[in-house]
Amino acid sequence: MKNLKKILAAVLAIAMICCFAGCGKKDTLTMGTNASFPPYEYVDDEGNIVGIDAEIAKAIADKLGMDLEIKDMAFESLITACQSKSVDVVLAGMTVSDERKESVNFSDSYATGVQVIIVKEDSDIATVDDLEGKKIGTQSGTTGATYCKDDYGDDNVKEYDNGSLAVAALQNDQVDCVVIDNEPAKNYVKANKGLKILETEYVVEDYAIAIAKDNTELLEKVNKALSELKKDGTIDKIVSKYITAE
Ligand code: GLN
Repeated sequence: MKNLKKILAAVLAIAMICCFAGCGKKDTLTMGTNASFPPYEYVDDEGNIVGIDAEIAKAIADKLGMDLEIKDMAFESLITACQSKSVDVVLAGMTVSDERKESVNFSDSYATGVQVIIVKEDSDIATVDDLEGKKIGTQSGTTGATYCKDDYGDDNVKEYDNGSLAVAALQNDQVDCVVIDNEPAKNYVKANKGLKILETEYVVEDYAIAIAKDNTELLEKVNKALSELKKDGTIDKIVSKYITAE
């Protein structure tokens, strides 16, 4: 009897140690992004990656009881990183497209994006119809780059690693315009003198979270978390923190 008590006490002690060790350590949700896409993701003055996507990912991670880690990389590399599981989720203002759906799954959509055209204030480009034969700056690997190559030919489209570089090329007259998503476009125009956004919208699209094809368990969890965060107003709150209604 005495021995049994001793054994039970030992088992209990081991169980408690294991629990304490385990409790402190949360699983990590790794998010891939390209932090040059304000207000969805950018690096703030303290060097942190912030923005709508970063906050939505944090809210999802909280719901799943996980820590969030953000990995910054070229936009072009995100799908591969997701397929190879070097990241669990991609939040990068990423548009749902049939081509991408062949490589990854997408969550329910959480935002709308519009491809717009940035030009210099004195540009002779007034609408989408004037793009024919013009040099168009884009971010490589984006839907904007794909549409422009389809519509205006590969030779007329220059691809840059990110939006800031494309806008710098416009400032230096290396391209005649930049095709990019509307919210980053507004940020770039605000931060750079002498630029404007054309009123005609080029393409309207949906943003969603990319997840590896075989990770359907995470996809379900993310969709559940997203729908709760939409319902309780968290997503709206995050968006309106970064985008002020006109
Ligand atoms: N929405 C565009 C796309 O998915 C651009 C996204 C980005 O540059 N971060 O291709």
